[in-house]
Amino acid sequence: MDFKIGDLGTSGTQSAAEHAPIVILGSGPAGMTAALYAARDELSPIVLTGMELGGQVSLTESIENYPGFPEGIPAQELIERFKAQAERFGARFIMDVATQVDLSQRPFVVKTYGMTYTADALIIATGASPRKLEVPGEKEFTGRGVSYCATCDGWFFKDKNVIVVGGGDSALEEGLFLTRYAKKVTIVHRRDQLRAQPFLQKQAFAHPKIEFIWNTVVTEILGDEAVKGVRLRNVKTGEEREMPIDGVFIFIGHVPNTDLFKGQLELDERGYIKVQGWVKTSVPGVFAAGEVADPRYRQVITSAGMGAAAAIEARHFLAEQAEKEATSSTVSTA
Ligand code: NAP
Repeated sequence: MDFKIGDLGTSGTQSAAEHAPIVILGSGPAGMTAALYAARDELSPIVLTGMELGGQVSLTESIENYPGFPEGIPAQELIERFKAQAERFGARFIMDVATQVDLSQRPFVVKTYGMTYTADALIIATGASPRKLEVPGEKEFTGRGVSYCATCDGWFFKDKNVIVVGGGDSALEEGLFLTRYAKKVTIVHRRDQLRAQPFLQKQAFAHPKIEFIWNTVVTEILGDEAVKGVRLRNVKTGEEREMPIDGVFIFIGHVPNTDLFKGQLELDERGYIKVQGWVKTSVPGVFAAGEVADPRYRQVITSAGMGAAAAIEARHFLAEQAEKEATSSTVSTA
């Protein structure tokens, strides 16, 4: 991939600085589409991609509901196409991670480990991360039997027994995906009713490899070198038991990646960036797009739509600022 790798120095010294009219944080569908629109407006956007090009889309195998691809499209291919289209108009993708921002004055400042970027307008498209169970063993066994991505890790569980935690669309969709590899997939849900869409429920109930454990939570993940089992508690009866298992897939929702902006932007009680007019944050000139500001729709198409809107609003904002500056310089020289 033709990335410019940011200088990931460990000394913490900021060695270089660069300015762009628009800096975009994140390279999921929202960031990619914002980059395309800003580039088409000749605003030379810089995209700091974050750790994962494509964001959460890169954790999916295939996208079946993005318009224009009646047969579906492999997620990696869609990401590459988004990127190529934005690059065609001059967007620059830099594989680097923002570690600090200062939104108190313009130009806004974004620091990474080795670079400082300044921007006249900022588009935040940092997405969300899988919510953690926060039980003993989860952290220790992540990558050794605990996973948040069936597409990435399902293959390692060929002919093994796995549990899926959660009762939403993700749990069922990923559980169904895991049946390709696993001998048995047991879905452990804390209630006795699923949150997932009816068509997914129908598929899961009918699948011979899928079983359900209701009203139950995982209280501990057990193992030595790798996961060997889980401790379960029935929330109705209080009964606890151990269940031998080879893998634990956790799909219990997401948390927005907004730590960087706490105290600088208005966030809602769950930590999502508050927006007005779809993409305007509490700081003029800072826009938010995609899941970081959208707990409701969370689709590739809606995130892409927000990315486009954010770039258009950023363009309007920059034009207004330029007009104001022109007016004030005319006044001061008059
Ligand atoms: P979600 O809808 O928020 O579901 C999370 C599930 O995890 C719920 O069943 C919840 O239980 C359970 N849960 C939450 N915290 C838990 C905890 N600490 N311990 C045990 N269980 C816990 O999340 P999602 O499935 O990731 O879906 C998020 C959004 O993306 C939804 O709007 C969904 O429709 C959308 N989505 C759509 C598709 C699709 O269209 N194909 C695919 C994936 C996701 P409760 O039910 O008891 O609250």
